[in-house]
Amino acid sequence: MLRWLRSIRVKTLGIMALATILGLGITYVALSAIEHKIEVNQALQGLSQTTNRILLMSQHGATLGQLRAASAVLTDERVVILRGSKTVLESGAPAVAQDLMQSSSDGLTTVYAYALPPKTDEASAELTAAASIVVLLALLAATLISRMVSKSMSMPISKAIEASQKVASGDLAARIGDVGSEDFQSLANAFDSMAAKLQDHENEQKKFLGDLSHEIATPINAVSGFALAICDRTIKGQEELSEAAWLIQEETDRINHLLTDLRTLDRLDIARTVTKEVFFIDIYIKELVLRFSASSSKKSLTVTWSAPHEEINIDRRLLDMVISNFLSNSIRYVDPKGKISLEVKHNSRDLIFCVADNGIGIAPAHLSRIFDRLYRVDDARDRVSGGSGLGLAIARRASQSLGARIEVESERGKGSRFRLLIPFTSALQENIGTAGQPPATGANLPTKVDE
Ligand code: ADP
Repeated sequence: MLRWLRSIRVKTLGIMALATILGLGITYVALSAIEHKIEVNQALQGLSQTTNRILLMSQHGATLGQLRAASAVLTDERVVILRGSKTVLESGAPAVAQDLMQSSSDGLTTVYAYALPPKTDEASAELTAAASIVVLLALLAATLISRMVSKSMSMPISKAIEASQKVASGDLAARIGDVGSEDFQSLANAFDSMAAKLQDHENEQKKFLGDLSHEIATPINAVSGFALAICDRTIKGQEELSEAAWLIQEETDRINHLLTDLRTLDRLDIARTVTKEVFFIDIYIKELVLRFSASSSKKSLTVTWSAPHEEINIDRRLLDMVISNFLSNSIRYVDPKGKISLEVKHNSRDLIFCVADNGIGIAPAHLSRIFDRLYRVDDARDRVSGGSGLGLAIARRASQSLGARIEVESERGKGSRFRLLIPFTSALQENIGTAGQPPATGANLPTKVDE
């Protein structure tokens, strides 16, 4: 790039020098022509004065001898005097076609004067000197200007090259900054914001890896601790052994759960294909509640639901990733005998799936972060039934693939409300709202409808 700029500089310099020399050449030729014309006029004027003077002498009775003597004095001019049509005097060499000529006549006598025209190819020494000085000055100015222009162009480019080389070698803190022209600055700003995003992404990635290794280390340490205790017979009684086996099983389940969620998240990031299918909303919700009935019954929870008997055309697998995450979280973060409600409704723009609970709730400080991978509020960490910390990250990715958005309202100690809003444009539920069926409802224990 810089080499290219340097070659541009040399070319610009050459072009400027050529243009200057050409311009000066043309000026020089034009000025020479003007100077020549002035000299011709002066010569013609001189010839005219000569013919007038000799005619006057003739009119005042000068003899031919006196006239010849007067003509002989003239060095550059030749004189011819006619009386009538007869040549009475001819001084100097005979006239030639290209000679300048002037004449004066009183009817009786005609005086002709001839002179060689001034040479055309000789410009004055002053003009030549002035032209040479201008050429030199122009060359000097061209050199200085091209140097300044190329420097102002190459400086921001050098900075850009330096910054991009640093970023390429892993220094994501490198930036170009505010340099160069307005156009260049928008390019530099785009580069800088790209580098900033890469840096954020790298930091996020580092944090994720740190959190992940911590998440894996905890159950692995527990499993290896129990295994060691069994090996060195610290744990030996039948009851102790079966308790250890149960705990090992629980820890390996946690790792398995984590790995499954990681794979799901990875798949969502890689494959963005959406496979739509048509199904009834209420039937889906009913099946979902049934799927979770074992875990909700274990905590004696009241799960109620309400959904329209209408068809939608949507990727059911992605929808389920979101809604089942909301529901499993509610079950996890609600105290025994708590309440959970599932409601599906629509407004003029969106189809809305809402899962609400009266569980532990989330403090405002954590609300913006719960969708980050492996982020868990301390209250949740303390819970034995804690999940992998990837559930909401999966829900967010799945909702993005659906073209939907998630909204959360929560109050610590009071409960949470998670909503998935699917715009009709991306949900493409052409049939929604046309069936006009009353919403289907259901509940596990006791049967109750949450409106
Ligand atoms: P986890 O597997 O830990 O539940 P998630 O990604 O699903 O991870 O949720 C992230 C965090 O958000 C949870 O650890 C918990 O602190 C909080 N959270 C999610 N849903 C609820 C809820 N219904 N009630 C209270 N806290 C919740």
